[in-house]
Amino acid sequence: TTTVWKEQDRRHHIHPFTDSKALHAEGGTRIITKAQGCYLTDSEDHQILDGMAGLWCVNVGYGRQELAEAAYKQMQELPYYNTFFKTATPPPIELAEKLAELAPEGLNRVFYGSSGSESNDTVVRLVRHFWNLMGKPDKKVFISREHAYHGSTCASASLGGMTAMHKQADLPLPGFEHVMPPYWYDFGAGMDPASFGKKAAKAVEDKILELGADKVAAFIGEPIMGAGGVIVPPETYWPEIQRICKQYDVLLIADEVISGFGRVGTWFASQKLGIKPDMMTMAKGITSGYLPLSGLMVGDRIADALSEGGDFNHGYTYSGHPVACAVALKNIEIIEREGLIERVRDETGPYLQEGLASLVDHPLVGEVRGMGLLGAVELVKDKDTHERYPNNQASIACRDHCIKNGLMLRQVRDGMIMSPPLILTKSEIDKLISILRSGLDAAKAKLG
Ligand code: PLP
Repeated sequence: TTTVWKEQDRRHHIHPFTDSKALHAEGGTRIITKAQGCYLTDSEDHQILDGMAGLWCVNVGYGRQELAEAAYKQMQELPYYNTFFKTATPPPIELAEKLAELAPEGLNRVFYGSSGSESNDTVVRLVRHFWNLMGKPDKKVFISREHAYHGSTCASASLGGMTAMHKQADLPLPGFEHVMPPYWYDFGAGMDPASFGKKAAKAVEDKILELGADKVAAFIGEPIMGAGGVIVPPETYWPEIQRICKQYDVLLIADEVISGFGRVGTWFASQKLGIKPDMMTMAKGITSGYLPLSGLMVGDRIADALSEGGDFNHGYTYSGHPVACAVALKNIEIIEREGLIERVRDETGPYLQEGLASLVDHPLVGEVRGMGLLGAVELVKDKDTHERYPNNQASIACRDHCIKNGLMLRQVRDGMIMSPPLILTKSEIDKLISILRSGLDAAKAKLG
Protein backbone atom coordinates (compact mmCIF):
# COMPACT_ATOMS: atom_id res chain seq x y z
CA THR A 1 0.00 0.00 0.00
CA THR A 2 2.79 2.46 0.73
CA THR A 3 3.93 2.22 -2.87
CA VAL A 4 0.39 2.73 -4.17
CA TRP A 5 -0.22 5.70 -1.87
CA LYS A 6 3.06 7.28 -2.89
CA GLU A 7 2.17 6.93 -6.53
CA GLN A 8 -1.35 8.34 -6.04
CA ASP A 9 0.17 11.18 -4.08
CA ARG A 10 2.76 11.89 -6.77
CA ARG A 11 0.14 11.97 -9.51
CA HIS A 12 -2.69 13.86 -7.87
CA HIS A 13 -1.78 15.66 -4.67
CA ILE A 14 -0.29 19.13 -4.36
CA HIS A 15 1.38 19.55 -0.96
CA PRO A 16 1.49 22.90 0.85
CA PHE A 17 4.94 24.52 1.21
CA THR A 18 6.64 21.67 -0.66
CA ASP A 19 9.02 21.43 -3.59
CA SER A 20 7.19 18.59 -5.37
CA LYS A 21 10.03 17.74 -7.67
CA ALA A 22 12.49 17.34 -4.81
CA LEU A 23 9.93 15.45 -2.71
CA HIS A 24 9.39 12.75 -5.31
CA ALA A 25 13.04 12.61 -6.34
CA GLU A 26 13.91 11.89 -2.70
CA GLY A 27 11.63 8.87 -2.41
CA GLY A 28 8.20 10.44 -2.02
CA THR A 29 5.90 11.24 0.83
CA ARG A 30 6.15 9.87 4.34
CA ILE A 31 2.67 8.60 5.08
CA ILE A 32 1.53 8.80 8.68
CA THR A 33 -1.17 6.25 9.36
CA LYS A 34 -1.65 6.21 13.13
CA ALA A 35 -0.69 8.07 16.27
CA GLN A 36 -1.00 7.64 20.01
CA GLY A 37 0.12 9.97 22.78
CA CYS A 38 3.22 11.74 21.48
CA TYR A 39 4.09 9.08 18.88
CA LEU A 40 3.35 8.89 15.18
CA THR A 41 3.40 5.65 13.20
CA ASP A 42 4.10 5.71 9.49
CA SER A 43 2.91 3.29 6.83
CA GLU A 44 6.16 1.35 7.13
CA ASP A 45 5.62 0.97 10.87
CA HIS A 46 8.29 3.39 12.05
CA GLN A 47 7.59 4.99 15.44
CA ILE A 48 8.38 8.71 15.52
CA LEU A 49 8.31 11.00 18.55
CA ASP A 50 6.37 14.04 17.39
CA GLY A 51 8.44 17.01 18.52
CA MET A 52 6.15 19.37 16.59
CA ALA A 53 2.66 18.25 17.78
CA GLY A 54 1.70 18.00 14.11
CA LEU A 55 1.90 21.62 13.03
CA TRP A 56 2.13 23.09 16.55
CA CYS A 57 -1.41 21.98 17.32
CA VAL A 58 -1.92 18.55 18.91
CA ASN A 59 -1.65 19.94 22.43
CA VAL A 60 -3.43 17.09 24.26
CA GLY A 61 -1.67 14.42 22.19
CA TYR A 62 -3.06 11.81 19.83
CA GLY A 63 -5.66 9.12 20.36
CA ARG A 64 -8.08 10.96 22.65
CA GLN A 65 -11.25 8.89 22.61
CA GLU A 66 -13.17 11.62 24.40
CA LEU A 67 -12.64 14.04 21.53
CA ALA A 68 -13.83 11.47 19.00
CA GLU A 69 -16.89 10.85 21.16
CA ALA A 70 -17.67 14.56 21.51
CA ALA A 71 -17.57 14.88 17.71
CA TYR A 72 -19.69 11.74 17.21
CA LYS A 73 -22.32 12.89 19.69
CA GLN A 74 -22.61 16.34 18.15
CA MET A 75 -22.70 14.91 14.63
CA GLN A 76 -25.60 12.69 15.58
CA GLU A 77 -27.53 15.48 17.27
CA LEU A 78 -26.83 18.25 14.81
CA PRO A 79 -23.89 17.97 12.41
CA TYR A 80 -24.20 21.46 11.05
CA TYR A 81 -26.10 24.63 11.23
CA ASN A 82 -24.77 28.10 10.57
CA THR A 83 -24.32 31.16 12.75
CA PHE A 84 -25.20 33.68 10.03
CA PHE A 85 -27.99 36.21 10.35
CA LYS A 86 -29.91 35.53 13.53
CA THR A 87 -29.21 31.84 14.24
CA ALA A 88 -26.69 29.77 16.15
CA THR A 89 -26.28 26.34 17.72
CA PRO A 90 -25.37 25.69 21.37
CA PRO A 91 -21.67 24.66 21.06
CA PRO A 92 -20.32 27.96 19.62
CA ILE A 93 -22.28 29.91 22.24
CA GLU A 94 -21.01 27.80 25.13
CA LEU A 95 -17.49 27.91 23.75
CA ALA A 96 -17.65 31.70 23.38
CA GLU A 97 -18.40 32.04 27.08
CA LYS A 98 -15.55 29.70 27.99
CA LEU A 99 -13.09 31.53 25.74
CA ALA A 100 -14.04 34.86 27.31
CA GLU A 101 -13.25 33.34 30.71
CA LEU A 102 -9.82 32.11 29.59
CA ALA A 103 -8.67 34.96 27.34
CA PRO A 104 -6.66 37.99 28.49
CA GLU A 105 -8.77 40.57 30.31
CA GLY A 106 -11.08 42.67 28.18
CA LEU A 107 -11.40 40.19 25.32
CA ASN A 108 -14.97 39.08 25.79
CA ARG A 109 -16.36 38.28 22.36
CA VAL A 110 -15.29 35.91 19.60
CA PHE A 111 -15.72 35.71 15.83
CA TYR A 112 -15.13 32.18 14.56
CA GLY A 113 -13.33 30.83 11.51
CA SER A 114 -11.84 27.49 10.56
CA SER A 115 -8.16 28.42 10.33
CA GLY A 116 -5.63 30.87 11.65
CA SER A 117 -5.40 32.37 8.17
CA GLU A 118 -9.12 33.06 8.14
CA SER A 119 -9.05 34.67 11.55
CA ASN A 120 -6.15 36.91 10.57
CA ASP A 121 -8.08 37.84 7.42
CA THR A 122 -10.97 38.71 9.68
CA VAL A 123 -8.61 40.98 11.63
CA VAL A 124 -7.96 43.02 8.50
CA ARG A 125 -11.67 43.27 7.68
CA LEU A 126 -12.77 44.07 11.20
CA VAL A 127 -10.03 46.58 12.02
CA ARG A 128 -10.71 48.61 8.88
CA HIS A 129 -14.44 48.46 9.53
CA PHE A 130 -13.83 49.64 13.10
CA TRP A 131 -11.83 52.68 12.05
CA ASN A 132 -14.49 53.55 9.48
CA LEU A 133 -17.10 53.38 12.22
CA MET A 134 -14.92 55.65 14.37
CA GLY A 135 -14.82 58.23 11.59
CA LYS A 136 -11.13 57.57 10.87
CA PRO A 137 -11.24 55.88 7.46
CA ASP A 138 -7.61 56.76 6.73
CA LYS A 139 -6.36 54.46 9.48
CA LYS A 140 -5.79 51.48 7.17
CA VAL A 141 -2.16 50.38 7.34
CA PHE A 142 -1.05 47.27 9.24
CA ILE A 143 2.44 46.98 10.65
CA SER A 144 3.98 43.58 11.33
CA ARG A 145 7.43 42.04 11.38
CA GLU A 146 9.86 40.45 8.94
CA HIS A 147 9.94 36.65 9.35
CA ALA A 148 6.41 36.64 10.81
CA TYR A 149 3.93 34.00 9.68
CA HIS A 150 0.25 34.89 9.96
CA GLY A 151 -1.23 32.54 7.37
CA SER A 152 -1.54 31.84 3.67
CA THR A 153 -4.55 33.78 2.37
CA CYS A 154 -3.64 36.97 0.50
CA ALA A 155 -4.36 39.26 3.45
CA SER A 156 -2.82 37.03 6.13
CA ALA A 157 0.28 36.40 3.98
CA SER A 158 0.52 40.18 3.53
CA LEU A 159 0.48 40.55 7.30
CA GLY A 160 3.24 37.95 7.37
CA GLY A 161 6.80 38.92 6.66
CA MET A 162 8.02 35.94 4.66
CA THR A 163 9.58 37.22 1.48
CA ALA A 164 9.46 33.82 -0.25
CA MET A 165 5.66 33.86 0.10
CA HIS A 166 5.42 37.47 -1.04
CA LYS A 167 7.49 36.98 -4.19
CA GLN A 168 5.30 34.23 -5.63
CA ALA A 169 2.03 36.13 -5.42
CA ASP A 170 2.84 39.84 -5.77
CA LEU A 171 2.34 40.39 -2.08
CA PRO A 172 2.12 42.17 0.23
CA LEU A 173 -1.09 43.88 -0.81
CA PRO A 174 -0.99 47.67 -0.45
CA GLY A 175 -1.30 48.83 3.15
CA PHE A 176 0.97 46.25 4.81
CA GLU A 177 4.35 47.31 6.23
CA HIS A 178 7.04 45.23 7.88
CA VAL A 179 9.69 46.15 10.42
CA MET A 180 12.61 44.43 12.09
CA PRO A 181 11.69 41.44 14.30
CA PRO A 182 12.88 41.29 17.93
CA TYR A 183 15.45 38.69 16.90
CA TRP A 184 18.47 39.51 18.99
CA TYR A 185 20.79 36.80 17.67
CA ASP A 186 20.55 38.00 14.05
CA PHE A 187 19.70 41.67 14.35
CA GLY A 188 21.24 42.69 17.68
CA ALA A 189 24.99 42.57 16.89
CA GLY A 190 26.99 44.27 19.60
CA MET A 191 23.96 45.14 21.73
CA ASP A 192 22.76 43.68 24.99
CA PRO A 193 19.32 42.03 24.63
CA ALA A 194 17.52 44.66 26.74
CA SER A 195 18.73 47.57 24.60
CA PHE A 196 18.04 45.61 21.46
CA GLY A 197 14.45 44.90 22.60
CA LYS A 198 13.89 48.66 22.85
CA LYS A 199 15.50 49.21 19.48
CA ALA A 200 13.25 46.62 17.81
CA ALA A 201 10.19 48.24 19.39
CA LYS A 202 11.41 51.64 18.23
CA ALA A 203 11.34 50.32 14.66
CA VAL A 204 7.55 50.14 15.08
CA GLU A 205 7.39 53.68 16.45
CA ASP A 206 9.60 54.97 13.62
CA LYS A 207 7.32 53.31 11.07
CA ILE A 208 4.23 54.90 12.66
CA LEU A 209 5.90 58.31 12.57
CA GLU A 210 7.03 57.80 8.98
CA LEU A 211 3.52 56.86 7.80
CA GLY A 212 1.65 59.18 10.16
CA ALA A 213 -0.34 57.81 13.11
CA ASP A 214 -3.56 58.86 11.36
CA LYS A 215 -2.79 56.25 8.66
CA VAL A 216 -1.86 53.31 10.90
CA ALA A 217 -4.67 50.96 11.89
CA ALA A 218 -2.92 48.23 13.85
CA PHE A 219 0.23 46.39 14.80
CA ILE A 220 0.11 42.58 14.77
CA GLY A 221 2.61 40.19 16.30
CA GLU A 222 2.94 36.72 17.72
CA PRO A 223 4.02 37.10 21.37
CA ILE A 224 6.75 34.59 20.48
CA MET A 225 7.30 34.10 16.77
CA GLY A 226 6.81 30.45 15.84
CA ALA A 227 7.31 29.54 12.20
CA GLY A 228 9.71 32.47 11.87
CA GLY A 229 12.13 30.49 14.06
CA VAL A 230 10.78 30.51 17.65
CA ILE A 231 12.00 34.02 18.30
CA VAL A 232 11.63 34.96 21.96
CA PRO A 233 11.77 38.76 22.26
CA PRO A 234 13.87 40.45 24.95
CA GLU A 235 11.80 41.39 28.04
CA THR A 236 11.96 45.05 27.11
CA TYR A 237 10.14 44.56 23.79
CA TRP A 238 6.44 44.04 24.56
CA PRO A 239 6.11 46.75 27.23
CA GLU A 240 7.48 49.25 24.71
CA ILE A 241 5.16 47.98 21.96
CA GLN A 242 2.26 48.34 24.37
CA ARG A 243 3.25 51.93 25.16
CA ILE A 244 3.72 52.84 21.49
CA CYS A 245 0.36 51.40 20.39
CA LYS A 246 -1.42 53.24 23.19
CA GLN A 247 0.35 56.52 22.49
CA TYR A 248 -0.56 56.56 18.78
CA ASP A 249 -3.96 54.86 19.09
CA VAL A 250 -2.79 51.94 16.98
CA LEU A 251 -4.64 48.69 17.77
CA LEU A 252 -2.49 45.91 19.19
CA ILE A 253 -3.28 42.45 17.81
CA ALA A 254 -1.75 39.31 19.31
CA ASP A 255 -1.58 36.30 17.01
CA GLU A 256 -1.77 33.40 19.47
CA VAL A 257 -2.41 30.73 16.87
CA ILE A 258 0.68 28.85 18.12
CA SER A 259 1.22 30.30 21.57
CA GLY A 260 -2.34 29.79 22.85
CA PHE A 261 -3.86 26.93 24.81
CA GLY A 262 -1.02 26.23 27.19
CA ARG A 263 2.01 26.18 24.93
CA VAL A 264 4.08 28.46 27.19
CA GLY A 265 2.53 27.51 30.54
CA THR A 266 -0.37 29.97 30.57
CA TRP A 267 -3.60 29.82 28.57
CA PHE A 268 -2.21 32.51 26.28
CA ALA A 269 1.32 33.88 25.97
CA SER A 270 -0.04 37.43 26.28
CA GLN A 271 -0.86 36.62 29.90
CA LYS A 272 2.68 35.46 30.55
CA LEU A 273 4.31 38.42 28.81
CA GLY A 274 1.95 41.08 30.17
CA ILE A 275 0.51 41.98 26.76
CA LYS A 276 -2.95 43.54 26.72
CA PRO A 277 -4.13 43.09 23.16
CA ASP A 278 -7.15 44.80 21.60
CA MET A 279 -7.75 41.61 19.63
CA MET A 280 -6.26 38.14 19.63
CA THR A 281 -6.38 35.32 17.09
CA MET A 282 -6.25 31.65 17.97
CA ALA A 283 -6.59 28.29 16.19
CA LYS A 284 -4.58 25.03 16.31
CA GLY A 285 -4.57 24.13 20.04
CA ILE A 286 -8.21 25.23 20.44
CA THR A 287 -9.21 21.72 19.28
CA SER A 288 -5.72 20.21 19.53
CA GLY A 289 -6.00 19.94 15.75
CA TYR A 290 -8.72 17.28 15.93
CA LEU A 291 -11.00 19.49 13.82
CA PRO A 292 -10.41 22.82 12.06
CA LEU A 293 -11.48 25.80 14.17
CA SER A 294 -10.20 29.30 14.84
CA GLY A 295 -11.33 32.41 16.60
CA LEU A 296 -10.72 36.12 16.78
CA MET A 297 -11.23 37.44 20.30
CA VAL A 298 -12.35 41.04 20.22
CA GLY A 299 -11.87 43.63 22.95
CA ASP A 300 -14.78 45.61 24.34
CA ARG A 301 -13.95 48.91 22.62
CA ILE A 302 -14.10 47.31 19.18
CA ALA A 303 -16.94 44.89 19.94
CA ASP A 304 -19.10 47.71 21.32
CA ALA A 305 -18.52 49.80 18.20
CA LEU A 306 -19.33 46.77 16.08
CA SER A 307 -22.62 46.14 17.86
CA GLU A 308 -23.66 49.73 17.18
CA GLY A 309 -22.41 49.66 13.61
CA GLY A 310 -25.03 47.71 11.65
CA ASP A 311 -24.12 44.66 9.55
CA PHE A 312 -20.55 43.37 9.58
CA ASN A 313 -20.47 42.00 6.03
CA HIS A 314 -18.11 39.14 6.65
CA GLY A 315 -18.36 35.47 7.63
CA TYR A 316 -17.59 31.89 6.72
CA THR A 317 -20.00 28.99 6.16
CA TYR A 318 -18.20 27.17 8.97
CA SER A 319 -17.97 30.11 11.43
CA GLY A 320 -18.87 28.44 14.72
CA HIS A 321 -19.17 24.92 13.29
CA PRO A 322 -21.02 22.97 16.00
CA VAL A 323 -18.92 19.82 15.79
CA ALA A 324 -15.61 21.71 15.89
CA CYS A 325 -16.87 23.81 18.82
CA ALA A 326 -18.05 20.71 20.73
CA VAL A 327 -14.57 19.23 20.28
CA ALA A 328 -12.96 22.49 21.42
CA LEU A 329 -15.05 22.48 24.61
CA LYS A 330 -13.99 18.92 25.38
CA ASN A 331 -10.38 19.69 24.53
CA ILE A 332 -10.37 22.63 26.97
CA GLU A 333 -11.96 20.39 29.60
CA ILE A 334 -9.10 17.88 29.17
CA ILE A 335 -6.45 20.61 29.44
CA GLU A 336 -8.07 21.82 32.67
CA ARG A 337 -8.76 18.40 34.18
CA GLU A 338 -5.24 17.08 33.55
CA GLY A 339 -3.56 20.30 34.68
CA LEU A 340 -1.59 20.45 31.45
CA ILE A 341 -0.91 24.16 31.70
CA GLU A 342 0.52 23.89 35.22
CA ARG A 343 2.56 20.91 34.09
CA VAL A 344 4.13 22.94 31.27
CA ARG A 345 4.65 25.92 33.57
CA ASP A 346 6.21 24.04 36.51
CA GLU A 347 7.68 20.82 35.17
CA THR A 348 8.07 20.01 31.51
CA GLY A 349 8.58 23.57 30.25
CA PRO A 350 11.57 24.29 32.53
CA TYR A 351 12.88 20.75 31.93
CA LEU A 352 12.83 21.17 28.14
CA GLN A 353 14.55 24.55 28.42
CA GLU A 354 17.26 22.99 30.65
CA GLY A 355 17.70 20.22 28.10
CA LEU A 356 18.14 22.78 25.33
CA ALA A 357 20.59 24.76 27.45
CA SER A 358 22.69 21.59 27.81
CA LEU A 359 23.29 21.73 24.04
CA VAL A 360 25.14 25.05 24.00
CA ASP A 361 28.48 23.30 24.44
CA HIS A 362 28.02 21.68 21.03
CA PRO A 363 30.32 23.19 18.36
CA LEU A 364 27.37 23.85 16.02
CA VAL A 365 25.14 25.58 18.54
CA GLY A 366 25.18 29.38 18.50
CA GLU A 367 22.15 29.98 20.67
CA VAL A 368 19.24 28.13 22.25
CA ARG A 369 16.01 29.85 23.12
CA GLY A 370 12.45 29.03 24.03
CA MET A 371 9.64 29.27 26.54
CA GLY A 372 7.43 26.54 27.92
CA LEU A 373 7.21 23.81 25.31
CA LEU A 374 8.48 25.98 22.48
CA GLY A 375 12.16 25.71 21.66
CA ALA A 376 14.82 26.54 19.09
CA VAL A 377 18.47 25.78 18.51
CA GLU A 378 20.40 28.09 16.19
CA LEU A 379 23.13 26.32 14.20
CA VAL A 380 26.27 28.19 13.22
CA LYS A 381 29.62 27.56 11.59
CA ASP A 382 31.38 30.09 13.80
CA LYS A 383 30.11 30.88 17.26
CA ASP A 384 31.98 34.20 17.46
CA THR A 385 30.93 35.73 14.15
CA HIS A 386 27.54 33.90 13.90
CA GLU A 387 28.56 32.82 10.38
CA ARG A 388 26.27 30.09 9.02
CA TYR A 389 26.77 27.22 6.64
CA PRO A 390 25.44 28.06 3.17
CA ASN A 391 21.88 27.06 2.20
CA ASN A 392 20.86 25.95 5.71
CA GLN A 393 22.96 22.83 5.22
CA ALA A 394 23.52 22.24 8.93
CA SER A 395 19.89 22.45 10.00
CA ILE A 396 18.75 20.35 7.04
CA ALA A 397 21.29 17.62 7.84
CA CYS A 398 20.31 17.71 11.51
CA ARG A 399 16.59 17.53 10.75
CA ASP A 400 17.03 14.62 8.33
CA HIS A 401 19.05 12.70 10.91
CA CYS A 402 16.45 13.33 13.62
CA ILE A 403 13.54 12.14 11.49
CA LYS A 404 15.46 9.07 10.39
CA ASN A 405 16.17 8.30 14.02
CA GLY A 406 12.62 8.63 15.27
CA LEU A 407 12.18 12.32 16.12
CA MET A 408 10.00 14.68 14.10
CA LEU A 409 11.47 18.19 14.29
CA ARG A 410 11.34 21.13 11.93
CA GLN A 411 14.10 23.23 10.47
CA VAL A 412 13.68 26.96 9.82
CA ARG A 413 16.58 28.72 8.12
CA ASP A 414 19.57 27.71 10.33
CA GLY A 415 17.48 26.71 13.29
CA MET A 416 15.92 23.56 14.64
CA ILE A 417 12.55 24.27 16.17
CA MET A 418 10.17 22.29 18.35
CA SER A 419 6.69 22.40 19.83
CA PRO A 420 5.80 18.97 21.24
CA PRO A 421 2.42 17.92 22.68
CA LEU A 422 1.77 19.29 26.20
CA ILE A 423 1.55 15.72 27.54
CA LEU A 424 5.22 15.06 26.78
CA THR A 425 6.93 13.37 29.75
CA LYS A 426 10.37 14.12 31.15
CA SER A 427 11.72 10.86 29.76
CA GLU A 428 10.39 11.81 26.33
CA ILE A 429 12.17 15.15 26.70
CA ASP A 430 15.40 13.27 27.49
CA LYS A 431 14.87 11.25 24.34
CA LEU A 432 14.18 14.37 22.27
CA ILE A 433 17.34 16.09 23.50
CA SER A 434 19.45 12.99 22.99
CA ILE A 435 18.31 12.45 19.38
CA LEU A 436 18.73 16.16 18.71
CA ARG A 437 22.30 16.02 20.00
CA SER A 438 23.05 13.05 17.77
CA GLY A 439 21.55 15.06 14.87
CA LEU A 440 23.93 17.91 15.66
CA ASP A 441 26.84 15.45 15.74
CA ALA A 442 25.78 13.99 12.40
CA ALA A 443 25.52 17.47 10.84
CA LYS A 444 28.93 18.44 12.21
CA ALA A 445 30.48 15.22 10.92
CA LYS A 446 28.97 15.84 7.47
CA LEU A 447 29.95 19.51 7.17
CA GLY A 448 33.21 19.56 9.09
N1 PLP B 1 -0.67 32.49 12.63
C1 PLP B 1 0.36 31.78 13.09
C2 PLP B 1 1.21 32.36 14.17
C3 PLP B 1 0.62 30.51 12.60
O1 PLP B 1 1.67 29.81 13.03
C4 PLP B 1 -0.23 29.99 11.60
C5 PLP B 1 0.01 28.63 11.05
O2 PLP B 1 1.00 28.01 11.27
C6 PLP B 1 -1.28 30.77 11.15
C7 PLP B 1 -1.49 32.01 11.70
C8 PLP B 1 -2.19 30.26 10.07
O3 PLP B 1 -3.00 29.28 10.57
P1 PLP B 1 -3.68 28.22 9.57
O4 PLP B 1 -2.60 27.37 9.01
O5 PLP B 1 -4.63 27.48 10.47
O6 PLP B 1 -4.39 29.00 8.53
